Amino acid sequence: MNGRAEGLGRTASAIFPPRSVDPDQTEAGRRLFAREARFVAGAAEPAMLPAEGLPEIAFAGRSNVGKSSLVNALTGRRMLARTSGTPGRTRQINFFDLGEQLMLVDLPGYGYADAPKTAIEAWTGLVRHYLRTRAALRRVCLLVDSRHGIKEIDRPLMAMLDAAGVSYQIVLTKIDKVASADLARVVDRVAAELAAHSAAHVEVYLTSAVERRGIAELQETLGALASSGA
Ligand code: GDP
Repeated sequence: MNGRAEGLGRTASAIFPPRSVDPDQTEAGRRLFAREARFVAGAAEPAMLPAEGLPEIAFAGRSNVGKSSLVNALTGRRMLARTSGTPGRTRQINFFDLGEQLMLVDLPGYGYADAPKTAIEAWTGLVRHYLRTRAALRRVCLLVDSRHGIKEIDRPLMAMLDAAGVSYQIVLTKIDKVASADLARVVDRVAAELAAHSAAHVEVYLTSAVERRGIAELQETLGALASSGA
């Protein structure tokens, strides 16, 4: 067990299905994410994507899902909060070099209610290009609000990930806002839906940026994908 069994019933771990974690790998993940994360590039169109190098982990999700908060909790700094305060940067793909071992990639949030059609088309074109062509891309973390589960707005991206054959995992956010019985139901629904998606990992990560739950587990998993990792 990983010591995170507090009151989640069947979803007694920050990872579902529950599994034990290796303390050495957890420590390696923690150390990696304690390193400096440096903004290296922003791409508003395919031609602006930086050259490939480090293994890449991308974070995606609808706007307001808690993406900035989660990445800030992972890296222990207000990295994305800074970038989203810069005009234009929220609509582009942003690249952050983590300790020269991993590239953290912030995909622009989707699902703005008032987004014009041209903006949605631009988002789709840019993200599809990135997902289809990026050999360095190891994993996409698709963030889903644990109060709502997977929504219609998320499914086009899941279809794109399946079509591009990009390995992805669901990370539930804001679990501190959900009662444990409701969370167990959402996790079951998500896990059942993932079974039909060829590129999706079966593991669902349960996180709260506010309470720092599930952060160490995610650091461990993502750290294993770094260039010094397995
Ligand atoms: P983004 O648009 O996906 O980058 O979302 P943000 O990180 O800006 O978060 C959107 C809102 O959700 C903000 O009001 C955050 O304070 C809140 N939020 C984010 N993560 C958590 C969490 O783990 N728990 C709670 N209770 N609120 C959160």
